[in-house]
Amino acid sequence: MAIALITGGGSGIGAATGTLMARNGDTVILADINSDAADSVAAQIVASGGKAESAALDVRDAQAFNALVDRVVADHGRIDLVFNNAGIGVGGPIEDLTLEHWQRVVDINIMGVVNGIRAVYPHMIRQGDGHIVNTASLAGLVPSPLLAPYAMTKHAVVGLSLSLRPEAAVHGIRVTALCPGPTETPILDSTGPADLPANEGVSARELLTKATGSIYPVDDLAADLVAGIEANRSLIVTPQRARLAWWVQRLVPSYLERHAGRLVSWAKREVEKLEHAAKP
Ligand code: NAD
Repeated sequence: MAIALITGGGSGIGAATGTLMARNGDTVILADINSDAADSVAAQIVASGGKAESAALDVRDAQAFNALVDRVVADHGRIDLVFNNAGIGVGGPIEDLTLEHWQRVVDINIMGVVNGIRAVYPHMIRQGDGHIVNTASLAGLVPSPLLAPYAMTKHAVVGLSLSLRPEAAVHGIRVTALCPGPTETPILDSTGPADLPANEGVSARELLTKATGSIYPVDDLAADLVAGIEANRSLIVTPQRARLAWWVQRLVPSYLERHAGRLVSWAKREVEKLEHAAKP
């Protein structure tokens, strides 16, 4: 039975994955900047007979990440899986974003993953075994207008994972990037910095529902993820309509570009309608 560390384990995809893995008999360590949320998910797992622990972790803190991984290895003798899953959404019209918005999303969505890889890599090399699972996104494979900073970080996570995979294989380490389409989690309601008034018009939920048609249940996503890990997939692109979008992007990129253009026009009209309605 595996020992798995999951960042962002207090909510959404991380919590659903941890819950499923614990049900399968694995031991999960749920790490989150929101330690209360991680505590609560771990307590629910334990109450249903599973093995779970929680930890406070800001993935931007490389030293804290190293210390947590060292502690997991000291306590359990090994670490089999790390899910570099914690992430935030930052989007909105580029002209409204500050440098701080870009830095924030890079620090968490890219450097948080780098910190996780650096923390587990020496242990996994020593073990001659391990699996690193980095949560990217469909937005890391296709154009995602009005979510450009987010999409940039997720393209980076895809590139990092695909490049590391053959390099890590030499040490017996597997690397997977998870690329979900829009999935039912709280991130859909939090995308866009709160300090960005221009992003108040259209929520990420509205934008992504308009872009892709529907939102995928998080438990289904967790099941796809666990199956994809067992099959040692390089990329897990799910659900099926996300695979279709990725396929269209590779075969007829101009089609998705036109679709993305229509989405931007729609969002602009929605914001104008809201502004018009707000006028006295
Ligand atoms: P979520 O908001 O439910 O969960 C994200 C978790 O990450 C939260 O518990 C949050 O506290 C934690 N977190 C944020 N910053 C952190 C930090 N600095 N250190 C540690 N923890 C931190 O959202 P989710 O949808 O479950 O997101 C998980 C991952 O899935 C993210 O990387 C996200 O980009 C990705 N993703 C989500 C979707 C979707 O539609 N939900 C689609 C594609 C990819």
